[in-house]
Amino acid sequence: MNPLFISAIIGTLLGLKRTCPKCKRDQIVPASKRRESVRCKFCEVDIPPRK
Ligand SMILES: [Zn+2]
Repeated sequence: MNPLFISAIIGTLLGLKRTCPKCKRDQIVPASKRRESVRCKFCEVDIPPRK
């Protein structure tokens, strides 16, 4: 399996996967940012933490 696929699965399990509200692209946020807003690496909009 490719490493990106594995990290995506791990991120999902840990609740670190976040979908940008603007560009709708999924990305994995660092565990340290889990409860903070992060900036989308594609369009640079702020993505709030999941409730
Ligand atoms: Zn985005």
